[in-house]
Amino acid sequence: MTKDKLEQLRRQINDPGYMDRAVNVLADNIVNGLVELRVTKYCKRCNTYKEEDAFANNCKAKDGKNYYCRPCQSELMRIYQERKRGKL
Ligand SMILES: [Zn+2]
Repeated sequence: MTKDKLEQLRRQINDPGYMDRAVNVLADNIVNGLVELRVTKYCKRCNTYKEEDAFANNCKAKDGKNYYCRPCQSELMRIYQERKRGKL
C-alpha cells in the first residue's frame, strides 16, 4: 500500500458516514451470501486458526469449546493414556 493510498484511506475512515456505509455494505453482502462470516478459534498446539466446528464441545470452557482442536485433543489423550499405562 502506497502512502497516498494510506492517506486516502485514513481520510475516508475519519469521515463519520464512511464506516456506517461500509458496515451497511458488509451487512448487505452477508445477507446476499457474498460474504461468509466464519468463527474461528486458535489452537495453541498446531498453531493454526480453525473453524469452531474443529473443536469439540467442552461445557467447562468459557466459550464452550475445547482448548485444542479435535486432532490435537485426541493426540493428547492418546499420550496421556500411554503415560498412564506406562506407569502402572
Ligand atoms: Zn490443533
